[in-house]
Amino acid sequence: MAEMIDLRSDTVTKPSEEMRRAMYKAEVADDSYDGDPTVIRLQELAAEKTGKESALFVASGTMGNLCGVLSLTTPGQEVILGDFSHQFLWEKGGSARVAGLVTHTIPFRDGWLDPQEVEAAIRPQTREAAPTGLICVEDTSNRGGGAVIPPEHLAKISEVAKRYHLPVYMDGARLFNAAVAMNRHAGDFTQFADAVSFCLSKGLGAPFGSLLCGSKDVIARSISARQMLGGGMRQAGIMAAAGIVALKTGIDRLAEDHASAQRLAQGLAELFPGCIDQRTVETNMFFIKVAALGRSGPQLAEELRREGILVFPTQPRMRLTTHCNVCSQDIDRALRVFARLRQSI
Ligand SMILES: *Cc1c(COP(=O)(O)O)cnc(C)c1O
Repeated sequence: MAEMIDLRSDTVTKPSEEMRRAMYKAEVADDSYDGDPTVIRLQELAAEKTGKESALFVASGTMGNLCGVLSLTTPGQEVILGDFSHQFLWEKGGSARVAGLVTHTIPFRDGWLDPQEVEAAIRPQTREAAPTGLICVEDTSNRGGGAVIPPEHLAKISEVAKRYHLPVYMDGARLFNAAVAMNRHAGDFTQFADAVSFCLSKGLGAPFGSLLCGSKDVIARSISARQMLGGGMRQAGIMAAAGIVALKTGIDRLAEDHASAQRLAQGLAELFPGCIDQRTVETNMFFIKVAALGRSGPQLAEELRREGILVFPTQPRMRLTTHCNVCSQDIDRALRVFARLRQSI
């Protein structure tokens, strides 16, 4: 029986041989007391790759986002978030519960926050209003099907933020997918954010971790935030070692995932007209319209599972994601399965 082709998410990737070897051999120390040398190397590399002064290794993207938000705000302020952003939808309301912020949502627009809507959401300074403290952006945009928000658009949000003396936070869980898709340096994107977090454990293929990157000052504050959240670590070099391999070998490789997504989307568009607008496929994930495949989301997921393909049973849209454990032959095999499904609409 061939292995399952897992198209649910790029978080499912397994660490490579090279990562496991690096983990085995990693030089370690108590990171909270002395600084773990491998963690320090990873943090320096992350700062360099994102064009920021400094970086902090954290357990997850969610922890990175919360540390970032905690470092840039004070309780009782308002944070402006897209209404379909990961930070608003899927992080257990951490901004409100832990950081003590009022979450003020505006239309997400697949990640393309409208600068005018951002500006309109900024509270005037009055005796009554909770003052606006932060604007959050997401790149690539998860609910936008991996859409890349280009630096030129981020500049417009940043311009509004600067005018009101507000910081910008970037949830860059898939920042390097954006950079690779546009053939730009990640720093072209992050220059418009005071802090940014990206995930090692998604397309970059590491088993664990994210990095929060920003100025020395912001990162100094985020160390306190991480400590409060119980995220201070000890011999974390074991995990950081895999992260170093991910950053050194995983970024350029993302282009392969983007090409796989393109090929999968094109095949599906030919098999099931109207299921996807190929122009929306920019990185390693895209949504299809389930109805165009002539069954419900759960039915489709079940039929695919029996053929060795894993997807989330959602509808009306279903997200398909490519990553380093989906090879070119897997895309061929997946398309053959979809072709068989078409015969039984
Ligand atoms: C995955 C993801 C996160 C959270 O990362 P975890 O490591 O799962 O906590 C945050 N933001 C976006 C846009 C994501 O896709």
